[in-house]
Amino acid sequence: MSTTYRTPRRRARLALAAAVTVTAALTGTVSQAAPSASGTPSPSPGAAGLGDPMFPLDGNGGYRVDRYTLDFDWQAPRTPFEATATIKATATQSLSRFNLDFGGNTLHGVKIDGSAARTSRAGDELTVTPKSPLPKGRTFTAKVTYTADPTQTRHRDDAIEDYGWIPTADGTVVYPQPNGARLIFPANDHPSQRAPITFRITTPKDLTAVANGKLVDRTERPGDRVRWTYDSEQPLSTQLVQLAVGKFKLVDGEGPGGLPLRDVVPDALVEPTAEYRKLTPDHLAWLQEKLGPYPFDRYGLLVGDTDLAVALETQTLSLIPKADLLGTKVDAERNMVHELTHQWFGDSVALKSWSDLWVSEGHARFYERMYSEEHGGDSFEAAMKTAYAAHDQWRHDVGAPAEPTEPNLFKRMRYDGSALVLYALREQVGDATFQKIERAWVSGFRGKTASTQQFIDLASKVAGEDLEGFLRPWLYGSKTPPMPGHPDWVVDPVQG
Ligand SMILES: [Zn+2]
Repeated sequence: MSTTYRTPRRRARLALAAAVTVTAALTGTVSQAAPSASGTPSPSPGAAGLGDPMFPLDGNGGYRVDRYTLDFDWQAPRTPFEATATIKATATQSLSRFNLDFGGNTLHGVKIDGSAARTSRAGDELTVTPKSPLPKGRTFTAKVTYTADPTQTRHRDDAIEDYGWIPTADGTVVYPQPNGARLIFPANDHPSQRAPITFRITTPKDLTAVANGKLVDRTERPGDRVRWTYDSEQPLSTQLVQLAVGKFKLVDGEGPGGLPLRDVVPDALVEPTAEYRKLTPDHLAWLQEKLGPYPFDRYGLLVGDTDLAVALETQTLSLIPKADLLGTKVDAERNMVHELTHQWFGDSVALKSWSDLWVSEGHARFYERMYSEEHGGDSFEAAMKTAYAAHDQWRHDVGAPAEPTEPNLFKRMRYDGSALVLYALREQVGDATFQKIERAWVSGFRGKTASTQQFIDLASKVAGEDLEGFLRPWLYGSKTPPMPGHPDWVVDPVQG
């Protein structure tokens, strides 16, 4: 994710984040089944959350999602519509009940393998109690019917600003990061939880729907409507979901090696944004030279017809606000390269927990700045020297790079402050070894989740030296270490 460099701070605060009643969800009545005589474990409730340090109730325990199939009978930008989420899952423990993350919307009911289940809601926790317990290893289908509210938005006081559904003049785009996917569909809403998704979006005939992955079907429906079916192809984290509706043109192109490219552009913006959109193949070639093969089967830009000045790395289809593509080339390319870099860091290699955000944002900013310097932008070194000077202050104000607090998650420390850690690592091990670390990371963890500790371990292994003692103070310490190779760089004293 990145915020545009020019557009002033946001207008009105659209909505307050809904209060999550943590204690209610954690201490809800537990209906334990009696222990069985055979000695097999008695069914017990799946955990309400995965215990993430930032968002303890995000994600759920006791099952794994194998596929989401999402049906949206979309009507108009601000009109509630009927929706169904069909969740194929496998029990990883003997389950008396389980939870989904689900916020707002009007729930109609949940069926497990065709039988009505008991439901209750507290905060963002939807608890589902099947008629009979689900044995460990059982594959089951949970069908959730609801009326979706496409105006649901939440707000954060960091670079995210507004997230959830963002209505446009004639349609919608979504900003699920960090945990707004639950406003769109009931989910295992944590970045470490990846599953493939089938989207079936029915719209009025004069509009186009898009989503992550490949368009696999377009079918005329009664009442001048059309159903668009997309398959994500690869599993994705819920924070990387995109679905958008509008008067779009689909502009096809080709990247290096014949990679299919498809930009999704509001009709009136096709020509005005063409010059910068044409640069994607160059960005792909530049990043592939550094990082190796692009990790997915296709890519494209979704041009956001919205005032929200935030770009987002939604998987295979990055959302770039129109303002970014109508300003200077340097600014446009910074955001384009930033979101494209995320396809390797954050999308293909997913976050194990939100404390690992520095890995994805640090890398996106690192390559964004490196590219920009080579293409008419600011000096990378000068930007890093500036970040170095502020680093103790940022540690004090918003936490060390790998030690964010929940309200300070998407602050500058996770961007330039974390690119600085990678810059220090490169100074320490040399450019050739650094490139080997980077390639080992994106190839070794391709399609998987990975943690900060795994980054430290892999860097040490590739470099052939223990980097724990070097990286830990950079990532967790309260004082900024000396910058290798730049003994003249100075950290400003902390104010306040
Ligand atoms: Zn980013």
